[in-house]
Amino acid sequence: MNISRAKGTKDIFFDEMKIWEYVEENIKQICSRRNMNQIRTPIFEDTSLFSRSVGNETDIVNKEMYTFLDKGGRSITLRPELTAGVVRAYIENGFSSMPSPVKLWYTGTMYRYEKMQKGRYREFSQFGIELLGSDSYLADVEAISVAYELFRKLGLLDKLILRINSIGCSNCRTKYVDALKEYLADKIDNMCEDCKARYVKNPMRIIDCKQDSCKSQKSNLPMITDYLCEECNKDFENLKSTLNAVGMKYEIDKTIVRGLDYYNKTVFEFISKDLDLAVGGGGRYDTLVEVLDGPHTPAVGYGLGLDRIILLLKEYNLFENNKNVDIYFVVQDNNAFSKVFNIANDLRNLGYIADIDICGRSIKAQMKYAAKINTKYTCIIGEDELKENSCSMKNMDTSEQLKVNLSAQKIDNMLKGGK
Ligand code: AMP
Repeated sequence: MNISRAKGTKDIFFDEMKIWEYVEENIKQICSRRNMNQIRTPIFEDTSLFSRSVGNETDIVNKEMYTFLDKGGRSITLRPELTAGVVRAYIENGFSSMPSPVKLWYTGTMYRYEKMQKGRYREFSQFGIELLGSDSYLADVEAISVAYELFRKLGLLDKLILRINSIGCSNCRTKYVDALKEYLADKIDNMCEDCKARYVKNPMRIIDCKQDSCKSQKSNLPMITDYLCEECNKDFENLKSTLNAVGMKYEIDKTIVRGLDYYNKTVFEFISKDLDLAVGGGGRYDTLVEVLDGPHTPAVGYGLGLDRIILLLKEYNLFENNKNVDIYFVVQDNNAFSKVFNIANDLRNLGYIADIDICGRSIKAQMKYAAKINTKYTCIIGEDELKENSCSMKNMDTSEQLKVNLSAQKIDNMLKGGK
């Protein structure tokens, strides 16, 4: 029986892998130039980390986690998101004693048992950032601007909409949830089973339910922004005016509440205009570090779906693979192999993509392979070349051939002149 990959997972290879590398290189450059630090946390964590932070009543914890008992009888969960793990690491490693704010970024795989559809997998990857230690809306602006800059560099900015909202602090939400429940009291019986449960346990999640039966009951819902306290309102106004001042476009979407328990004040999402897919989302979580028994540490962060970013780059043809092999060494025999082995390394150190036969095949077979991998040049070291300490550089587009002395320096000069 053939073994195939598990449902909801995928293999990433060859041309698509190049796009992933390109996106990840951009992420790394953007984050390191902003003085942010990369963090890697374990793929599996103690289950209680997620139930205490993401929230027991959320879809993620309720329905989607990959949870199992390990051989020691501990309940383990494959991470469904990464903010919780980063906050656990922040507390466990004493990051609060470091200069504040602590600015972190990550990429990694997440696991959610979800129904498969376009852009929705059970194993997927996120790029995320977490800025810990600032309660200022300026941190929200900075956080959003990292995603903004990434989308600008990738050519995706005009394909996406940034939607923002404020869900206030716990004071604002207590008043709002009362008003929401009052409004829904005579409508909830006509809504879906999930919303009936949410009405009791997590009423704000009713707002973004997409079921038709529920949508029709929500035409005049009270909105959280009308219940913000003075401080939350001021923060939201400041955020909007600063986004305007620095030229980051956004729309206000009063229906964004985010599915996770730990958010407060600013929440936001990046949505694809054409595909109706969320590409990323996050917000402020000022109490999460304390909820997990750490010191008071206001923070903001988000996760962007890398699979969906790659999907969009492919959809709009925004990635050009310009990383073909620059030079392929075709070698007559072991002797020729040993002679060019270090020359190939020297050229790699100069920035060329250089490859060499490792099968001991005939020159003819090596030339065939070189043509198949789309190399720009082949560097042939046959019998004559070996005697003369030279090589024949063949331009694979024009078939022009030129003999040069066998040294990295001479090959480099030739390639620069020939490019
Ligand atoms: P969330 O933590 O649910 O807000 O997810 C943040 C981002 O991760 C989303 O906007 C998606 O781009 C991505 N994402 C979430 N779930 C999945 C999934 N099952 N498959 C692929 N991407 C996902």
